[in-house]
Amino acid sequence: MLGVLALQGAFARHVEVLHGCGVDAIEVRTPEQLDSVDALVIPGGESSTMSKLIDSNGLRGALSERLAAAMPAFGTCAGMILLADEVLDGRADQASFGVIDIAVRRNGYGRQIDSFESDLLIDGIDGGEAVDDFRAVFIRAPIVERVGNGVEVLASVDGTPVVCRSGTTLVSSFHPELTNDDRLHRLFLDHVAG
Ligand code: GLN
Repeated sequence: MLGVLALQGAFARHVEVLHGCGVDAIEVRTPEQLDSVDALVIPGGESSTMSKLIDSNGLRGALSERLAAAMPAFGTCAGMILLADEVLDGRADQASFGVIDIAVRRNGYGRQIDSFESDLLIDGIDGGEAVDDFRAVFIRAPIVERVGNGVEVLASVDGTPVVCRSGTTLVSSFHPELTNDDRLHRLFLDHVAG
């Protein structure tokens, strides 16, 4: 069973995409729901708000433990921030789980390009082939400023990583649920959570 953290943000579309991939997926808001899932998607939205809601819903401890125990996780945009080891320009009271050794700067692409789209070349999806037509929608996206050893960069835009993987953690700085393309979700299901 897959879970999508459903405290705030773009969770509903992720559930639909996962259903479209033929897997059972539920919205996760409580520790009991978290217990019932094998892998978790953390959606885009607002990372500082989501961080507060993780605390107020009593999910911080359980989520930390599951992630530390290698529960597969796919973090998109704000979800990437919440999984990152280091957050630059975060709010003082926001906390991240530090399960992937990257440093991300919140809203790092700057005001003039608050939102943009790009066609990505992504390695190893679609049956292991590289594809060059993955449309990515960036919305006040975090920018990856450092990638640690052991982190695999699967796609970049102008030399900046936008899809990274480390062990059972996959992150993207864009919103893969907004386009009618489930290939990144399938990569997560088949090669990260599988
Ligand atoms: N700027 C948001 C944050 O700091 C992320 C934006 C998004 O998820 N689309 O969490």
